[in-house]
Amino acid sequence: MTYQTINPYTNEVIATFPDATKDEVDAAITAAHAAFLSWRDTPFSTRTAVLSKAADLLRADRRRYAELLTLEMGKVIGEAEAEVDLSADILQYYADHGESLIETEQVPVALAAEGKVEIVSQPLGVLLSVEPWNFPYYQVARVAAPQLLAGNTILLKHASNVPQAAAAFDDLFLRAGLPAGAFKNLYLPHDLTEHVIDDPRVRGVALTGSEEAGAIIAAYAAKAVKKSTLELGGSDAFVVLKDADMDKTVEWAVFGRHWNAGQVCVSAKRMIVVDEVFDEFLEKYRDGVKALKMGDPLDATTTLAPLSSQGAADKLADQVKEAVAGGASAETLGDKVPAKGAFFQPTILTGMDSTNPSYYEEFFGPVSIVIRAKDEADAISIANDSPFGLGGSVFTKDTVRGEKVARQIDTGMVYVNHPTMVKADIPFGGVKHSGYGHELTNLGIQEFINKKVIDVVDINAAF
Ligand code: NAP
Repeated sequence: MTYQTINPYTNEVIATFPDATKDEVDAAITAAHAAFLSWRDTPFSTRTAVLSKAADLLRADRRRYAELLTLEMGKVIGEAEAEVDLSADILQYYADHGESLIETEQVPVALAAEGKVEIVSQPLGVLLSVEPWNFPYYQVARVAAPQLLAGNTILLKHASNVPQAAAAFDDLFLRAGLPAGAFKNLYLPHDLTEHVIDDPRVRGVALTGSEEAGAIIAAYAAKAVKKSTLELGGSDAFVVLKDADMDKTVEWAVFGRHWNAGQVCVSAKRMIVVDEVFDEFLEKYRDGVKALKMGDPLDATTTLAPLSSQGAADKLADQVKEAVAGGASAETLGDKVPAKGAFFQPTILTGMDSTNPSYYEEFFGPVSIVIRAKDEADAISIANDSPFGLGGSVFTKDTVRGEKVARQIDTGMVYVNHPTMVKADIPFGGVKHSGYGHELTNLGIQEFINKKVIDVVDINAAF
């Protein structure tokens, strides 16, 4: 594995970075632990100021940070700028609310003799954060902002195709005043991951990525008896009921499936449409997809970016071939993709059913699976027939009914009349093979905290 910047719009290699050596990794753990010992006792006002400053620095240099995302993983520039804003929002959210989310709690007890019982939130120590390339800043901010505020320190192992975005966050935190060692990006080779997790000073690991990587990293953590959180893949259902506002629904469906070039964990990957409105939905959806404009991701008029790498485009092409071999029909849409770059022709798959081995896979790119459901109950049952349990959405004019349907979908998040509401102040997390644990808000900050019980008993109290 090599840490490299390759521009997916041109497939040119821009820069290569050497892997961290074992000595460098050990030195980073030592520095992160030393930083933890003072950072955990640093007043909240100082921790808050560091996060606020990091948010300000991101916003002040929004375009430069955004261009780096476009260069390394191909995101269209408007979406890259939105990611910079969202990352700043997350840093600011924890600067504003973090301390109050981990305040000491008093535990009511039945008898005075039980003493004064409280739960004190204390940080654990050094954490390993393993992150994917699809939202290079946002994914890092989701772990770093709450955990630094809580008093933990972080070693970052980012995806090998976004080495400069990873280094940008290292520099960002230093410029924001975080003590050296408290956040460190490492170009960690896979074969040193277990070594890091095994180190007694490392107290937990948060991974966002594929199911395969999650299972490997969580197994290392389990072997070392350490806490892990996993934010993994998904194949979200986008359920369309017969009373949905069809034009708006289709607009959200096209956006939901194609933003970030379809490389989003919580993305509308399976459109499940009830029979009465299936034909209308499909016709309008085809038109919406055809209107997408591929091209230079730095051009503000481009609406469909290249994939993150040629390898990702080749993998997706193989998956579509296999789906067709398994009985699906593939329809390609829109202008022909540019010959150069990691582009993928938008594709709609119909005729997919559970007899097709591809039915249960995640398609990470502009491939839409459109499924006809007999009725609402059938749509719910199809939505739940997935190994994944990340997000999902329900489109209906009747929001009470929408909420009822949402409650029956077996995932960590369901949005009524929206494909995926990704915000700094809404929690995030999945179930089933989409992982466990949460990120963001009060749920995220609690993941790597010792909820310590302290009970002060009056020595003279009766037995
Ligand atoms: P990936 O291959 O699993 O990579 C994710 C991270 O894990 C990268 O830093 C990668 O490093 C590292 N990694 C992979 N195998 C490893 C190993 N054996 N030892 C140590 N580190 C290892 O995932 P991806 O394909 O880049 O990302 C897309 C996946 O992430 C999709 O399934 C998507 O749905 C999911 N995702 C989930 C969420 C969520 O919040 N639930 C958010 C975004 C993405 P290298 O690059 O060096 O391999």
